[in-house]
Amino acid sequence: MTLHPASASESDPGSTPALAVEDLVKTFGGLRAVDGASFSVPAGSVTGLIGPNGAGKSTLFDLVTGVLSPESGEIRLRGERLVGRAPHEVAAAGVGRTFQTPKTFAGMSVADNLAFAAPDQTGESALSALLRGQTVAAEERALAERVAETLDFLDLSHLADAYARGLSGGQRKLLELGRVLMLDPSLLMLDEPVAGVNPALADRLLDRVRALNDEGRTVLLVEHDLDLVMRECDYVVVMQDGTTLATGTPEEIRADDRVVDAYLGGG
Ligand code: ADP
Ligand code: MG
Repeated sequence: MTLHPASASESDPGSTPALAVEDLVKTFGGLRAVDGASFSVPAGSVTGLIGPNGAGKSTLFDLVTGVLSPESGEIRLRGERLVGRAPHEVAAAGVGRTFQTPKTFAGMSVADNLAFAAPDQTGESALSALLRGQTVAAEERALAERVAETLDFLDLSHLADAYARGLSGGQRKLLELGRVLMLDPSLLMLDEPVAGVNPALADRLLDRVRALNDEGRTVLLVEHDLDLVMRECDYVVVMQDGTTLATGTPEEIRADDRVVDAYLGGG
């Protein structure tokens, strides 16, 4: 897929992280769902976010994407502050997020689902910039090409005219990834992208995520399958009770007694 690579992939740990979260706090009533979480996602990495149910992972995704506002703390995308921005502004800044339950339009075709995900003219994405100033016909052509390219990339071309409601759960997850890709994100935040997906489709999805990472896009992945996390991720962040218990390479996380005690269970 020839998109607009977010930037050359930098794995230099000294460079500005793709995402940095500092002392983030979010409470619901008396419950501290996110309670001082701090971690960074190196640019160009695939980083796994793991932790037991209720650890605060989804709330953290909501905070980063502007769905929720933190009580305190900082969120930076390539050094740029995100706190206070609306979800569409965060998306335009380059954050693409998928949900555990895909958000697709059931009564719309697969191709239209992608077309409707394209940024509008007020967006800041590369596609908007490309489209700005062109005629309506040229815009439509560019959009149709982009949809076709995205369908091809996900191997969904044969389903272009099918209604989304007829897709399997796994195909819907692929489509949701496609919708996110229409916004040309530099950071992909994926909430359990292969949970409940059949093995063949899960392999394809992971293969596509790897290809997107190879293009220079950073990936932050919530996933419960620890073998998958250890295999696919360059770095792992462990959350528990709203805080970040540990961060490191898969090897470091496996060897961390606190993680083993608190989460990986037994030793
Ligand atoms: P995870 O994704 O790691 O399973 P969540 O972020 O969904 O964890 O939840 C963290 C905690 O916050 C849980 O105790 C959950 O019940 C609570 N929580 C999440 N969203 C809300 C909400 N909108 N209102 C009240 N409590 C919430
Ligand atoms: Mg969750």
